[in-house]
Amino acid sequence: MARKLLNYFLIALGLLLSVILVRAYLHQPDSYETKIEGRLVLDETKAIENLSKSIQFKTISHPDYEKFDYDEFQRFLDWLEKEYSQVFKNLEKKYLGNTLLLKWQGDDFSLNPILLTGHYDVVPVKANAINVWQEDPFSGKIDSEYIWGRGALDDKSGVIAILEAVDYLLDKSFKPQRTVYLSFGHDEEIGGRRGAGKVTEFLIDQDVELEWTLDEGSFLLKDIIPGVNKPVAVINVAEKGSLTIQVIGKAEGGHSSMPSSKSSIGYLSEALLKLEDNPIPGRLEGISLGLFDEVSKQMPFQYKILFANLWLFEPLINSILSDSPTMNAVIRTTTAPTMLSASNRLNVLASEAIGTVNFRLHPRDNPESIVNYVKDLIGNKNIEVKKLSAGTLASSVSDWNTDGYRVISNSVREVYGDIIVAPGLMVGGSDSKHYAKAAKNSYRFNPFPLSANELSGLHGVDERIKKNDFLNGIRSYIGIIKSGAE
Ligand SMILES: [Zn+2]
Repeated sequence: MARKLLNYFLIALGLLLSVILVRAYLHQPDSYETKIEGRLVLDETKAIENLSKSIQFKTISHPDYEKFDYDEFQRFLDWLEKEYSQVFKNLEKKYLGNTLLLKWQGDDFSLNPILLTGHYDVVPVKANAINVWQEDPFSGKIDSEYIWGRGALDDKSGVIAILEAVDYLLDKSFKPQRTVYLSFGHDEEIGGRRGAGKVTEFLIDQDVELEWTLDEGSFLLKDIIPGVNKPVAVINVAEKGSLTIQVIGKAEGGHSSMPSSKSSIGYLSEALLKLEDNPIPGRLEGISLGLFDEVSKQMPFQYKILFANLWLFEPLINSILSDSPTMNAVIRTTTAPTMLSASNRLNVLASEAIGTVNFRLHPRDNPESIVNYVKDLIGNKNIEVKKLSAGTLASSVSDWNTDGYRVISNSVREVYGDIIVAPGLMVGGSDSKHYAKAAKNSYRFNPFPLSANELSGLHGVDERIKKNDFLNGIRSYIGIIKSGAE
């Protein structure tokens, strides 16, 4: 009897192992014909010099609209009109404040237009930048490998590459069937209300429904995702929302010589620790499943065993992903305590100790659900939880099984060859939170390669882009506009 049971057990175990291994074996990427089109011949010197010149305009946006140097923004726009005169001659232009909207009329009025967009405002550089940067951040220095400066990645490269692509297509007498809009924002870094926000209102007013939009977002990531050797083009199909709350510990205040057994700071500390130890629940589903399913097909076999058998290994995978800050941010709403305040005297007990906590909302959560989660978790009458403002929801999630997504992924594959393309979630914000209101689907991706050491230039020090990467970005945009609009 016992032997019979053991036999059954071994047979069951064997079957289980076979299922796991067969599923892992079948976890293969779709095959794509990676025919790299004959490399498009560009006016490389002109394109590189134009990116360099664009960086030299100090179009720095400021949280206070009164403090913009609008003259500098205007000089940049005047320069664009002069440098891209063919584009301005053939496309209809409209300014909404300092944001530029161009319309390239297509021949087929029955097709919904598409929109390609970027922003030309940049974040400031720290006052001591001269000592920290290898090159002056507004010099637009061109060396043998790189173009340097603020905006080289975020996002003047996007703006100039799109204009170069349109200029190229006009040179070749390309005529779009589908109308193509181009929009270049002046206030993305401070929320885009007066730029992308106004453009979106204008388009909606004109009854324009965009088929899809392409904005800045992720890049063609090289050596950034662990265990994956091929470059990964992460096309973001949504962006996270944000919520800031205050957690307030309350207790008797008074003189520090006769403290009660628990202070407001004690209550607050316990509450914050609980919040950190109990992250908002998250899991591999939707976008994150789409991303890791695609990427894991290229991973070594031991990873394939895990990702091809989520039914068995999901809890293990979730805990591995949660350990990495970048991966964790993709699967859940993140919790970040950022500010603390209490008494400002060394011998005074505060009656209130305040912790400020910033959450970046995953599309599955909303501000109310987060506040309820926090209240239930802390469950202490000495703690008050209140929202600092209404918060913003994550964007809607765009479909990644559409012609638009395929246009972008195929065009990028044609330039870069054997790469992985996967949907992703943008953890920062972009102007697409506005444009998405006028579009069926919104994608966020910069078709430029980016390595780990270049990544730190975004909003940081030594922002730069490889000349070749920039040129291949232009080639990608040419493909995207051509196949998206023909
Ligand atoms: Zn940006």
